[in-house]
Amino acid sequence: MALKLYNTLTRSVQEFTPLDPAGKQVGMYCCGPTVYDFAHIGNWRTFVFADLVRRSLELFGYNVKHVMNITDVEDKIIKRVREQKTTLREFTGQFETAFLDDLKALGCREPHMKPRATEHIAEIIAIIEKLVARGVAYRAADGSVYFSIEKYRGCGCCYGQLLKLNLDEMRTGARVASDEYEKESVADFALWKARVSEDGDVFWPSPFGEGRPGWHIECSAMSIKALGETFDLHLGGEDLKFPHHEDEIAQSEGATGKPFVKYWLHGAHLLVEGKKMSKSLGNFFTLRDLVAKGHTGREVRYLLLTSHYRETFNFTLDGLAGAKSALGRIDECVGKLRELAGNLEVAPEAGFLDRFKLALADDLNISAAWAAVFEWVRDINKQLAEKSLTPAGAAAALAAWSQVDSVLGVGIQGGAEVPAEIVALANERTAAKAAKDFKRADAIRAELKAKGWVIEDTPKGPKLKPV
Ligand code: AMP
Ligand code: ZN
Repeated sequence: MALKLYNTLTRSVQEFTPLDPAGKQVGMYCCGPTVYDFAHIGNWRTFVFADLVRRSLELFGYNVKHVMNITDVEDKIIKRVREQKTTLREFTGQFETAFLDDLKALGCREPHMKPRATEHIAEIIAIIEKLVARGVAYRAADGSVYFSIEKYRGCGCCYGQLLKLNLDEMRTGARVASDEYEKESVADFALWKARVSEDGDVFWPSPFGEGRPGWHIECSAMSIKALGETFDLHLGGEDLKFPHHEDEIAQSEGATGKPFVKYWLHGAHLLVEGKKMSKSLGNFFTLRDLVAKGHTGREVRYLLLTSHYRETFNFTLDGLAGAKSALGRIDECVGKLRELAGNLEVAPEAGFLDRFKLALADDLNISAAWAAVFEWVRDINKQLAEKSLTPAGAAAALAAWSQVDSVLGVGIQGGAEVPAEIVALANERTAAKAAKDFKRADAIRAELKAKGWVIEDTPKGPKLKPV
């Protein structure tokens, strides 16, 4: 079954095929948090969406390398460091820790790499040097280095790959030092910002003079270092398309001369009770605010996962109450299945799993995926009431749920969760055995062992256990 995703670059739903010629390894980069405050639930919608993409790819058998940067030097951060008379590391460290705690509370798998911008200054400088050498970046009178959109376009390169920008009508040629600038202007943006007194201790030496990087170049440097000059997937909220992601493309392709990213995925925004989230309206929630009101990370995750990632989502407190009751229905059903199945472990029931995968394959059609889950709950409850479900049937249903939940991540864990990648390998081994390819089956057993899992062949099928 092929997974299809909406690619902002081609403005179409496309079958996902990784760059890896073996079709297995996938590199995925999601723009991470700017650690100047607690992340709000709008931010969390985007990070839960990234987790859904990663987990779906894993269910479809891919080996994902998930990278999420930590933006720990940027205009807003520097302003607050100055206001609070603290150090950059002390200030950003507390919000980075809080972010990672919340990520866990929301049931998100931890990215494999979490590079910090401040630890990639050498890589950032190296890219800027290449851009200067290629004539698409210049040092201005203020000592800062800017990316020249005009020179870039003059080389036949395209600025405006994600959005159709009307470059003739937009204000062009202006120059901006700010990380977040007016979307009405296609401005030359800062790659390196010359040190000014307000920056305090936040500066690094460079061939262009003391200063600090701009926000956009940070992501180019960290993603290229972690995933190579061309990689599979780049994610973020829709507000990042322009200028952040356009600038990332321009800097990266300008420096390497190669296509930067194959699939760009953008998540739509979250509104609160129909309005834009804002502190002045008092509708600005962090995860901590919701936990203080008695809600759980699991309920918030569930709610954030109920709408399609490309549709604006209206967050309400009533919605959270609904999440609690929906999860209660799943928990009750799974609890009864566990009682009936005992320790039996059998192959997953294919029908439910296939319906769920079919929904995901359709550009992560989450409504259809949840519909499959709740139809399954109704059906299981009916069979339990009629006492027509056998222990083996219950075990097969549970095994299917475990794979479904390897994507949803909302189930209450009973015993060790088997990662989707391990389940996929075990299934590949079963197929190899059925095809009498025992050499391949043995090689997979060894691979599973190396990854910390033993496989036991029981009369009810293969059973996985941690080593
Ligand atoms: P930031 O920490 O501001 O760099 O934002 C982190 C991520 O949250 C980015 O991918 C933003 O696009 C995303 N984001 C910001 N506001 C919202 C919102 N209201 N709904 C969904 N995503 C958002
Ligand atoms: Zn970014």
